[in-house]
Amino acid sequence: MKATVTTISRRNLVGKIGKGATLAAVATAVPGQAKAAIAQRPVHYAMVIDTRKCTGCHACSVACKTEFEVPLGVHRSWVEYVEKGTYPNVSRSFLPRLCNQCSEPDCVSVCPTGATYKREEDGIIVVDAEKCIGCKYCMQACPYDSRFVNPNTGTVEKCDFCLHRVTKGLEPSCVNTCQGRARVFGDLNDPDSEVAKLVATEPVTVLRQEMGTQPNVFYIGADHADENDLRVPGQYVRVDTHRPALERR
Ligand code: SF4
Ligand code: SF4
Ligand code: SF4
Repeated sequence: MKATVTTISRRNLVGKIGKGATLAAVATAVPGQAKAAIAQRPVHYAMVIDTRKCTGCHACSVACKTEFEVPLGVHRSWVEYVEKGTYPNVSRSFLPRLCNQCSEPDCVSVCPTGATYKREEDGIIVVDAEKCIGCKYCMQACPYDSRFVNPNTGTVEKCDFCLHRVTKGLEPSCVNTCQGRARVFGDLNDPDSEVAKLVATEPVTVLRQEMGTQPNVFYIGADHADENDLRVPGQYVRVDTHRPALERR
Protein backbone atom coordinates (compact mmCIF):
# COMPACT_ATOMS: atom_id res chain seq x y z
CA MET A 1 0.00 0.00 0.00
CA LYS A 2 1.51 3.30 -1.03
CA ALA A 3 0.88 6.42 0.99
CA THR A 4 1.58 10.07 0.54
CA VAL A 5 4.35 11.23 2.84
CA THR A 6 3.43 14.91 2.96
CA THR A 7 4.26 16.17 6.42
CA ILE A 8 1.43 17.86 8.25
CA SER A 9 3.01 19.37 11.33
CA ARG A 10 1.79 22.77 12.47
CA ARG A 11 5.31 23.54 13.67
CA ASN A 12 6.55 22.82 10.17
CA LEU A 13 3.79 25.00 8.85
CA VAL A 14 4.94 27.94 10.94
CA GLY A 15 8.57 27.22 10.25
CA LYS A 16 8.00 27.16 6.52
CA ILE A 17 6.19 30.48 6.28
CA GLY A 18 7.82 32.38 3.50
CA LYS A 19 9.05 29.24 1.77
CA GLY A 20 6.45 29.38 -0.99
CA ALA A 21 5.56 26.10 -2.64
CA THR A 22 6.40 23.91 0.34
CA LEU A 23 4.11 25.91 2.55
CA ALA A 24 1.28 25.61 0.07
CA ALA A 25 1.60 21.83 0.03
CA VAL A 26 1.59 21.57 3.80
CA ALA A 27 -1.08 24.16 4.41
CA THR A 28 -3.70 22.27 2.42
CA ALA A 29 -3.42 19.18 4.61
CA VAL A 30 -4.01 19.34 8.31
CA PRO A 31 -5.16 22.76 9.46
CA GLY A 32 -8.48 22.31 7.68
CA GLN A 33 -8.96 18.89 9.22
CA ALA A 34 -8.19 20.10 12.72
CA LYS A 35 -10.37 23.18 12.31
CA ALA A 36 -13.30 21.12 11.08
CA ALA A 37 -12.91 18.70 13.95
CA ILE A 38 -12.87 21.47 16.54
CA ALA A 39 -15.99 22.99 15.05
CA GLN A 40 -17.94 19.76 14.78
CA ARG A 41 -17.49 17.85 18.02
CA PRO A 42 -16.24 18.34 21.56
CA VAL A 43 -13.95 15.30 21.51
CA HIS A 44 -11.87 14.16 18.56
CA TYR A 45 -10.06 10.94 19.37
CA ALA A 46 -6.84 10.27 17.51
CA MET A 47 -3.72 8.16 17.77
CA VAL A 48 -0.10 8.97 17.07
CA ILE A 49 2.27 6.10 16.36
CA ASP A 50 5.97 6.92 16.60
CA THR A 51 7.54 4.24 14.44
CA ARG A 52 10.98 5.25 15.68
CA LYS A 53 10.02 3.69 19.02
CA CYS A 54 8.31 0.62 17.55
CA THR A 55 10.28 -2.61 17.90
CA GLY A 56 7.87 -4.72 15.87
CA CYS A 57 7.15 -6.87 18.93
CA HIS A 58 3.46 -7.44 18.00
CA ALA A 59 2.39 -7.01 21.62
CA CYS A 60 -0.26 -4.59 20.38
CA SER A 61 -1.59 -7.15 17.92
CA VAL A 62 -1.76 -9.81 20.61
CA ALA A 63 -3.41 -7.48 23.11
CA CYS A 64 -6.05 -6.62 20.52
CA LYS A 65 -6.65 -10.28 19.72
CA THR A 66 -7.18 -10.97 23.40
CA GLU A 67 -9.33 -7.91 24.06
CA PHE A 68 -11.84 -8.85 21.35
CA GLU A 69 -11.26 -12.60 21.02
CA VAL A 70 -10.41 -12.00 17.34
CA PRO A 71 -10.34 -15.33 15.44
CA LEU A 72 -7.23 -16.65 13.71
CA GLY A 73 -6.61 -15.28 10.22
CA VAL A 74 -8.28 -11.90 10.74
CA HIS A 75 -6.99 -8.78 12.52
CA ARG A 76 -8.31 -5.55 13.98
CA SER A 77 -4.73 -4.39 14.62
CA TRP A 78 -1.55 -5.62 13.01
CA VAL A 79 2.08 -4.68 12.36
CA GLU A 80 3.66 -4.66 8.91
CA TYR A 81 7.36 -5.15 8.32
CA VAL A 82 8.83 -2.94 5.60
CA GLU A 83 12.12 -4.19 4.15
CA LYS A 84 14.00 -2.00 1.66
CA GLY A 85 17.21 -1.82 -0.26
CA THR A 86 19.83 -4.12 -1.72
CA TYR A 87 22.57 -5.70 0.39
CA PRO A 88 24.51 -4.17 2.10
CA ASN A 89 22.32 -1.06 2.02
CA VAL A 90 19.19 -2.51 3.55
CA SER A 91 16.67 -1.38 6.15
CA ARG A 92 13.77 -2.84 8.04
CA SER A 93 11.07 -0.81 9.74
CA PHE A 94 7.69 -1.46 11.28
CA LEU A 95 4.30 -0.01 10.47
CA PRO A 96 1.57 -0.71 13.05
CA ARG A 97 -1.86 -0.65 11.42
CA LEU A 98 -5.48 -0.27 12.48
CA CYS A 99 -8.64 1.50 11.37
CA ASN A 100 -7.82 5.18 10.88
CA GLN A 101 -11.18 6.38 12.31
CA CYS A 102 -11.32 8.68 9.30
CA SER A 103 -12.97 12.10 9.46
CA GLU A 104 -14.31 11.51 5.93
CA PRO A 105 -14.74 7.71 5.99
CA ASP A 106 -15.53 5.93 2.73
CA CYS A 107 -16.98 3.02 4.68
CA VAL A 108 -19.94 4.90 6.17
CA SER A 109 -21.79 6.16 3.10
CA VAL A 110 -21.81 2.77 1.35
CA CYS A 111 -23.39 0.86 4.24
CA PRO A 112 -26.98 0.07 3.22
CA THR A 113 -28.26 -0.59 6.74
CA GLY A 114 -26.63 2.14 8.79
CA ALA A 115 -24.63 -0.48 10.67
CA THR A 116 -21.45 1.51 10.12
CA TYR A 117 -21.57 5.04 11.41
CA LYS A 118 -19.47 7.79 12.96
CA ARG A 119 -20.10 8.65 16.58
CA GLU A 120 -20.83 12.38 16.75
CA GLU A 121 -19.57 12.63 20.32
CA ASP A 122 -16.00 11.48 19.65
CA GLY A 123 -15.56 10.70 15.95
CA ILE A 124 -15.01 6.96 16.38
CA ILE A 125 -16.34 4.82 13.51
CA VAL A 126 -18.29 1.85 14.82
CA VAL A 127 -20.13 -1.18 13.45
CA ASP A 128 -23.48 -2.20 14.94
CA ALA A 129 -23.38 -5.99 14.64
CA GLU A 130 -27.16 -6.16 15.04
CA LYS A 131 -27.61 -4.18 11.83
CA CYS A 132 -24.74 -5.63 9.79
CA ILE A 133 -25.86 -8.00 7.01
CA GLY A 134 -22.32 -8.95 5.96
CA CYS A 135 -22.61 -7.48 2.47
CA LYS A 136 -18.94 -6.34 2.53
CA TYR A 137 -19.62 -3.02 0.80
CA CYS A 138 -17.65 -1.29 3.54
CA MET A 139 -14.71 -3.63 3.04
CA GLN A 140 -14.58 -2.69 -0.61
CA ALA A 141 -14.85 1.01 0.20
CA CYS A 142 -12.15 1.19 2.86
CA PRO A 143 -8.83 2.17 1.24
CA TYR A 144 -6.87 0.69 4.15
CA ASP A 145 -8.02 -2.94 4.37
CA SER A 146 -9.06 -2.21 7.92
CA ARG A 147 -12.18 -4.40 7.89
CA PHE A 148 -12.86 -8.11 7.84
CA VAL A 149 -15.69 -10.56 8.21
CA ASN A 150 -15.62 -12.35 11.54
CA PRO A 151 -15.85 -16.01 10.49
CA ASN A 152 -17.72 -16.84 13.69
CA THR A 153 -20.46 -14.24 13.32
CA GLY A 154 -20.60 -13.41 9.60
CA THR A 155 -20.59 -9.71 10.41
CA VAL A 156 -17.91 -7.13 9.64
CA GLU A 157 -15.56 -5.90 12.34
CA LYS A 158 -12.66 -3.50 12.68
CA CYS A 159 -10.81 -1.50 15.31
CA ASP A 160 -12.98 0.96 17.26
CA PHE A 161 -10.19 2.49 19.39
CA CYS A 162 -11.38 0.11 22.16
CA LEU A 163 -14.59 2.08 22.58
CA HIS A 164 -15.59 -0.01 25.62
CA ARG A 165 -12.35 1.05 27.32
CA VAL A 166 -12.08 4.71 26.30
CA THR A 167 -15.65 5.44 27.40
CA LYS A 168 -14.48 4.30 30.85
CA GLY A 169 -11.47 6.58 30.75
CA LEU A 170 -9.01 3.82 29.83
CA GLU A 171 -6.54 3.76 26.95
CA PRO A 172 -7.04 1.39 24.01
CA SER A 173 -5.56 -2.00 24.78
CA CYS A 174 -2.80 -1.65 22.15
CA VAL A 175 -1.67 1.63 23.69
CA ASN A 176 -1.79 0.18 27.17
CA THR A 177 0.42 -2.76 26.20
CA CYS A 178 3.00 -1.01 23.99
CA GLN A 179 6.28 -1.47 25.81
CA GLY A 180 8.05 1.04 23.58
CA ARG A 181 5.43 3.76 24.24
CA ALA A 182 5.22 4.10 20.48
CA ARG A 183 1.46 4.59 20.61
CA VAL A 184 -0.22 7.67 22.06
CA PHE A 185 -4.01 8.08 22.23
CA GLY A 186 -6.08 11.09 23.15
CA ASP A 187 -8.28 14.01 22.22
CA LEU A 188 -7.01 16.04 19.30
CA ASN A 189 -9.31 18.88 20.33
CA ASP A 190 -7.57 19.19 23.70
CA PRO A 191 -4.48 21.32 23.09
CA ASP A 192 -2.94 19.98 26.30
CA SER A 193 -3.23 16.34 25.23
CA GLU A 194 -0.09 14.51 24.15
CA VAL A 195 -1.61 13.60 20.78
CA ALA A 196 -2.46 17.23 20.05
CA LYS A 197 1.03 18.33 21.01
CA LEU A 198 2.66 15.64 18.88
CA VAL A 199 0.54 16.45 15.82
CA ALA A 200 1.34 20.12 16.37
CA THR A 201 5.08 19.71 16.77
CA GLU A 202 6.16 16.59 14.87
CA PRO A 203 6.26 16.02 11.09
CA VAL A 204 3.43 13.49 11.13
CA THR A 205 2.14 11.60 8.12
CA VAL A 206 -1.01 9.61 7.39
CA LEU A 207 -1.70 6.62 5.19
CA ARG A 208 -2.85 7.39 1.66
CA GLN A 209 -3.58 11.04 2.25
CA GLU A 210 -4.50 11.31 -1.42
CA MET A 211 -7.71 9.35 -0.75
CA GLY A 212 -9.18 12.32 1.10
CA THR A 213 -10.46 10.24 4.00
CA GLN A 214 -8.63 12.36 6.59
CA PRO A 215 -7.25 9.60 8.82
CA ASN A 216 -7.00 10.17 12.56
CA VAL A 217 -4.08 7.80 13.00
CA PHE A 218 -0.90 9.80 12.55
CA TYR A 219 2.61 8.42 12.10
CA ILE A 220 5.99 9.78 13.09
CA GLY A 221 8.98 8.51 11.15
CA ALA A 222 6.96 6.00 9.14
CA ASP A 223 8.24 4.43 5.96
CA HIS A 224 5.15 4.18 3.77
CA ALA A 225 6.97 2.38 0.95
CA ASP A 226 5.42 -0.67 -0.65
CA GLU A 227 6.26 -3.19 -3.35
CA ASN A 228 4.99 -0.81 -6.02
CA ASP A 229 6.97 2.19 -4.79
CA LEU A 230 8.37 3.93 -7.83
CA ARG A 231 10.08 6.78 -6.02
CA VAL A 232 13.38 4.93 -6.15
CA PRO A 233 13.66 2.98 -9.46
CA GLY A 234 15.02 -0.50 -8.92
CA GLN A 235 14.56 -0.20 -5.17
CA TYR A 236 13.77 -3.53 -3.55
CA VAL A 237 10.81 -3.22 -1.21
CA ARG A 238 8.99 -6.00 0.57
CA VAL A 239 6.09 -5.48 2.95
CA ASP A 240 5.56 -8.44 5.26
CA THR A 241 2.04 -8.52 6.61
CA HIS A 242 -0.76 -10.98 7.30
CA ARG A 243 -2.36 -10.31 3.92
CA PRO A 244 -0.82 -11.54 0.64
CA ALA A 245 0.45 -8.71 -1.56
CA LEU A 246 -1.99 -9.54 -4.34
CA GLU A 247 -4.92 -9.06 -1.99
CA ARG A 248 -3.75 -5.66 -0.78
CA ARG A 249 -4.55 -2.43 -2.52
S1 SF4 B 1 3.38 -2.98 20.93
FE1 SF4 B 1 4.33 -0.99 20.40
S2 SF4 B 1 6.48 -1.51 19.98
FE2 SF4 B 1 5.34 -3.44 19.88
S3 SF4 B 1 4.76 -3.67 17.66
FE3 SF4 B 1 3.05 -2.64 18.71
S4 SF4 B 1 3.43 -0.42 18.38
FE4 SF4 B 1 5.39 -1.52 17.99
S1 SF4 C 1 -9.79 3.21 7.87
FE1 SF4 C 1 -11.35 2.29 6.55
S2 SF4 C 1 -12.80 1.33 8.00
FE2 SF4 C 1 -11.58 2.80 9.17
S3 SF4 C 1 -12.82 4.71 9.14
FE3 SF4 C 1 -11.31 4.83 7.44
S4 SF4 C 1 -12.44 4.08 5.65
FE4 SF4 C 1 -13.59 3.39 7.48
S1 SF4 D 1 -20.93 -5.53 5.75
FE1 SF4 D 1 -22.21 -4.69 7.43
S2 SF4 D 1 -21.18 -2.78 8.08
FE2 SF4 D 1 -20.37 -3.36 6.04
S3 SF4 D 1 -21.62 -2.22 4.55
FE3 SF4 D 1 -22.56 -4.26 4.78
S4 SF4 D 1 -24.09 -3.98 6.40
FE4 SF4 D 1 -22.71 -2.18 6.52
